[in-house]
Amino acid sequence: MNKLNGNCECKKVSFEITQEIKYFSHCHCSQCRRSHGSAFGSFIEVDKSCFKYNSGTKNIKSYSSSKLCKRIFCKSCGSNIMFLDEAKPDKYYVSVGVINGNPKLPAAHHVFVGSKASWFEINDDLRQHDTYPSAFKNE
Ligand SMILES: [Zn+2]
Ligand SMILES: [Zn+2]
Repeated sequence: MNKLNGNCECKKVSFEITQEIKYFSHCHCSQCRRSHGSAFGSFIEVDKSCFKYNSGTKNIKSYSSSKLCKRIFCKSCGSNIMFLDEAKPDKYYVSVGVINGNPKLPAAHHVFVGSKASWFEINDDLRQHDTYPSAFKNE
């Protein structure tokens, strides 16, 4: 079983994931770009039941960036921990950048490429979707 550990930059918030990761995405939407301060946000889909905080639950804050999307971050250091999508109530979308080591991940999808930053060019062969992958939308 794949076990992943992660923590925020100031290490107050830490967590573990005990699950094989099946879905990995680089999201180019403007909200992910702003909240991560970068060209895109990178996330893995995790079953809520397979995610456990080890410390720092009192140190997290959330921000609703849209009606369905809530972003969770460390209130001390600002690290993006995950986002929640109300359309997927049994899942967490954990920021890959806060995971330690070399997690084993599937090939990523580029999503919301339709709102990609003009100053960033995608130079890989990964699948690209204008918004969500269609399989993801219909689930
Ligand atoms: Zn922190
Ligand atoms: Zn996004």
